[in-house]
Amino acid sequence: MGSISEAPDVTVGVLALQGAFSEHLQLLRQAEQVLAATTPAPPRKWAFLEVRTEAELASCDALVIPGGESTAISLVAERSNMLDPLRDFVKQARKPTWGTCAGLILLAESANRTKKGGQELIGGLDVRVNRNHFGRQTESFQANLDLDFLKKSDGGSEAPFRAIFIRAPVVERLLPHMPGVQEGEAKTGETVIAPSRSTDQSLISTIGGAEVEVMAILPGRTATLSHEAKEKLDAEAGDIVAVRQANVFGTSFHPELTGDPRIHTWWLEQVIDAVEKRRALA
Ligand code: GLN
Repeated sequence: MGSISEAPDVTVGVLALQGAFSEHLQLLRQAEQVLAATTPAPPRKWAFLEVRTEAELASCDALVIPGGESTAISLVAERSNMLDPLRDFVKQARKPTWGTCAGLILLAESANRTKKGGQELIGGLDVRVNRNHFGRQTESFQANLDLDFLKKSDGGSEAPFRAIFIRAPVVERLLPHMPGVQEGEAKTGETVIAPSRSTDQSLISTIGGAEVEVMAILPGRTATLSHEAKEKLDAEAGDIVAVRQANVFGTSFHPELTGDPRIHTWWLEQVIDAVEKRRALA
């Protein structure tokens, strides 16, 4: 126990303050099996752990922030002094971080329809999310998504991903990338913004582009209720339900509730790339 040779190659944490963290851990383990079976290189030693403290976070190479209730997660994070360590992890250390549903809200630089005084953001993605976008009547639904990023490099076809949306947010606006705070965003009463982000340009250039990439669109649903709908980039084109910006990935839906490990497997591959790049520099 504890000898250097037994140390994991890669440690992935799942923030376990509230929400669907054990489901993520289960799918991460499933994804590990897929990688071990499909990658020719000798299997890596992965460690997957529940993260509740700053010390646990410090041991992680990458982090998942699960779905749940973003107000509750932010409140518990604040009370357990985890907000700033989380912001440092995402925006200064720039380690791979994936947020699902409530996790996506927390990773946005700006969020709408937040409770007054009740929501802190971690930030990292230059987007504005609209919470509970689909309203109450359709709080929960499933839809097939075509996810190009899951397609094999040989161009082979990939089955659509059955995505589960539970009181889901959408990305309603891509914001300009700026080194400081998204100040123009704080004008309406229900919008909150994340505090300042890292300006360490050398790390940004190592880790990859700073632009927000749209990774998935939910077709055929028009925005409900939102006065912001008119502001959407292209309402007819559907709702943006997955985005990536450098080290940060966010999905409106819950891949951890499907039993389908494809997105977890893809993300672990991204984590390996990021960890290897970082270690090559060290
Ligand atoms: N509506 C929730 C929130 O605002 C997110 C729901 C979810 O994670 N399933 O935090």
